[in-house]
Amino acid sequence: MKDYLKHHEWQIVEEGFDAHLNKVSESIFSIGNGRMGQRANFEEEYSGETLRGSYVAGVYYPDKTRVGWWKNGYPEYFAKVLNAPNWIGIHISIDNQKLDLAKCKVENFKRVLDMKTGLLSRSFTASFADGKKVSVSSKRFCSMANGEVGAIRYAITPLNFSAKATCSIYVDADVVNKDSNYDEKFWEEVSKEASEGKAIVTAQTKKTFFHVATGMKYVIESEGKKVSFDRINIEQREKFAGNVVQFDLHQGKEVVIYKYAAVLSSENHPKDKIAANCSKVVDDATAKGFDKLFEEHAKIWEHKWEECDITIEGDISAQQGIRFNIFQLTQTYTGEDERLNIGPKGFTGEKYGGVTYWDTEAYCLPFYLSTSDPKVARNLLVYRYKHLPKAIENGQKLGFVDGAAFYPFVTMNGEECHNEWEITFEEIHRTSAMAYAIRDYVDYTGDDKYFAEFGLEVLIGNARFWAQRATFSSDKNKYVVLGVTGPNEYENNVNNNWYTNYLGAWTLRFAQHAIDHVKKTDSKRFAEIAAKTNLKEKEETSKWKDIVDKMYYPFDEKRGVILQQDGFLDKELLTVKDLRKEDRPINQKWSWDRILRSCFIKQADVLQGIYLFEDDFNVETIKKNFDFYEPMTVHESSLSPCVHVILASKIGYKEKAYELYLRTARLDLDDYNNDTEEGLHITSMAGTWMSVIKGFGGMRVKDGKLHFTPYIPEQWKSYSFRLEFRGRVIKIKVGKEKVDTILESGEPLELFVQGKSVLLK
Ligand code: BGC
Repeated sequence: MKDYLKHHEWQIVEEGFDAHLNKVSESIFSIGNGRMGQRANFEEEYSGETLRGSYVAGVYYPDKTRVGWWKNGYPEYFAKVLNAPNWIGIHISIDNQKLDLAKCKVENFKRVLDMKTGLLSRSFTASFADGKKVSVSSKRFCSMANGEVGAIRYAITPLNFSAKATCSIYVDADVVNKDSNYDEKFWEEVSKEASEGKAIVTAQTKKTFFHVATGMKYVIESEGKKVSFDRINIEQREKFAGNVVQFDLHQGKEVVIYKYAAVLSSENHPKDKIAANCSKVVDDATAKGFDKLFEEHAKIWEHKWEECDITIEGDISAQQGIRFNIFQLTQTYTGEDERLNIGPKGFTGEKYGGVTYWDTEAYCLPFYLSTSDPKVARNLLVYRYKHLPKAIENGQKLGFVDGAAFYPFVTMNGEECHNEWEITFEEIHRTSAMAYAIRDYVDYTGDDKYFAEFGLEVLIGNARFWAQRATFSSDKNKYVVLGVTGPNEYENNVNNNWYTNYLGAWTLRFAQHAIDHVKKTDSKRFAEIAAKTNLKEKEETSKWKDIVDKMYYPFDEKRGVILQQDGFLDKELLTVKDLRKEDRPINQKWSWDRILRSCFIKQADVLQGIYLFEDDFNVETIKKNFDFYEPMTVHESSLSPCVHVILASKIGYKEKAYELYLRTARLDLDDYNNDTEEGLHITSMAGTWMSVIKGFGGMRVKDGKLHFTPYIPEQWKSYSFRLEFRGRVIKIKVGKEKVDTILESGEPLELFVQGKSVLLK
C-alpha cells in the first residue's frame, strides 16, 4: 500500500518527484473523454521508467495468440487496444542539454488532477548540469466537448539565464505496445504532412486496417505576443512529423507553448477524407484557443458532476476516493457510441487489452443506469445485441448448435479473445451476465419495449446455450452443469458450481418471461423474432422448463449453506486469518496447483449469486452464507469487495462493510494491490459506486419503485448522492439523525425510505 498523494476533496495532488512512483502516477493522473485517453506521461523527454500510453476507443489489433499447447477452440488472437500515436510531445533543449526529469535536478514538483474540470497540471523547477534553471508549468486536457480534441499549455521560464531554446513539437505514430506478443509494431504509415506550425500523421493498424489521423498545431507566445523564431525546421521521418523551432529565452520571462491536437479514427471518418478532416479539426481547435476550449470542456464536467456526484462529509480521503472513481468512470465511457464499451483498464494501461468483459454488465451497468440518460445504459446492451451473431458463432466453434449464443469472456468485436481453457471454455456464467443486464435495465428504466426490440433475441440465444450445456444425470435425476469455472477463478473444472447452475436456470425462466411478454404486448414482433430465430417454441420451452424444474443445486444440510460446487467440502476449510502475511496475495506467492486445492476464494461466487438474486433469500440465509464464505475470501479480484459491502450492509455487518469499502474506494489511489502502475481498475470503480448507493444507501428497485434503507458509516458526518430515475433527478442526503430526499428535477415521484412511502414533489 502507498500513501503519497495529498488528500483533497476535488483534486489528486502529488508533491515532490519520486521517479520510483512515476508509473503509478502516470496511471492515477490519466485523462480521457470517452473517445480517447492517455496516461499522465510527460510532454518533455523522459529517459526514466515510464509506460507511454495513448489510446483511441475502438481501435484494436488482433495480436496472434501465444500459448504453449494449442487446444481446439482457442481463439486465434487476443484483441489489444493499441497504444496510439503520441500527440503530447514537446521536447526542449537549452545549450544542447535536454530537459529530462530523469537527468535534471528537480525541485518543487507538483502534479495535480483537478477532477472538477478534468484538467491535468504539472509544475516544477529543473536545473541542468551547467546550473541553468527553468521553471515549467503545464496544463492538459482531452476535451469532453469535442472527443477528437486535446490541448496543452506548456509554459517555461528561464530563472537564472538568457539563452536560445530548441523545441521539437511533433506527432509520432512510431509507438509500441509493451504487451505485444511477438514484439511487433502494430502501426504502419499511410501519409504524413508537415508545414510551419502544423503536422499530421495518418497511420493504419496492421490486419484490422483502422486509420487514425493525428494532427497538431502550435502557437508560441510570450507576454501575449507571438514569439519570433530564429529557425524553423520541418522534421519528418517514418510515422513522425513535426517542427523544430529555435527562439530566445529571456531571464524571468515566461514563454508559453500552446499545442492543439486532433485525433480522428476511421470508425468515424471515411479513410480518404480522414487527413483532411483532421486538418480542419485541428485548425478549428487552434482558432478557438486554449481558454475557450477549456471553458467548453469544464462546462461538460460541471454538468456531469450535477448528475453523478457523491459527497461525503467528515472524511476527506473517502470523499476523494469516491470522486476519483466517478471521475475515471465518466471519462472512460460517455455512452454516445454503441460500438464502444468499458475495458477493465479504460484508457490507463494495456493490461486486459482494453477489451470487454462481463464486468460491464455485472458491475458497470448500474452506475451508468443511475447517473446518465437511459440511452447510455441502453447502448451498452445494444453493443451485446450487435454481437449476438458472433456469440452464436462462438458457440458453434465449441459444438453448440441451433442458435445457442455463447458470449465471449473477453472481446472487442464479439469474437472470443481469451485463451485459457479454464476460462474461455469453462467460465460460462458470463454469457448470462448479458441476460441479467437486460433485466437490470428494464427494471430500472421501465423500458420493457426493449424485450421486443433487442432483448428477446439475446435471451433466446442464451437460453438455447443453457439448454444444451446442462446435462441430465440419471444418477441424481437432476440436470447438472459439469466442468465449469465459477466467478471464483481459484477453482477450475468443477462440477455444479452453484452460481453457474442458478444463473443458467434463471436465464431459462427469464427467457420464457420475455417470450410471454412480447407475445402479449407485440404479437406481430414476436412472430418476426420467432421466424428469425427459428424458434420451435413448444418443443424448446418445454425443455427449458424441465431443466428449470430439475436443476441440481449443491447444498450442505448440516451447515445450512449453499455449496460453491460439488466437491467444496472435501477441501481443508481454513480462513484467511490462517494465512501467513508472507503468503499473500496467494496469486503471487503460491503455485497454481496449491491455489486450486485450497478453499480460498478469489472473489464473490455463491455470494455473487445471492447479491444478484437477493429477493430469493431471507436475511438468515444470507448471513449463514456470508459467515461461511467471506472468511475464506482473499478478495484478490478488485471486483470482490463491493459485492461484500452490499451484502454486509444488508445483514447489518456495518464494520465489515466499511472495512471492505475502504479497500475498494482507494484501491488505486493507495495502490493496495501493488499493480496500479499497469493501469487503473476501472470496472471495479463502478463497484465502489454501488457500495455507496446499494450498500450504505440500500437502494433497490422493486416493482418500478425506488427503495432505500440507508445508514451512515460511523466515520462520516453525512453523505449524499444523486440518481437519475425515470426522467427525474433525485438527491438523497443521509445524516446521523435523518435522511433527506429531494426531487431536483422532473415529475413528482413516490419512493420508499426504510419501507415508508415518501412522495417527492
Ligand atoms: C476477474 C474476472 C474479471 C477480470 C477482468 C479477473 O481477475 O476474476 O472476474 O472479469 O479480472 O476485470
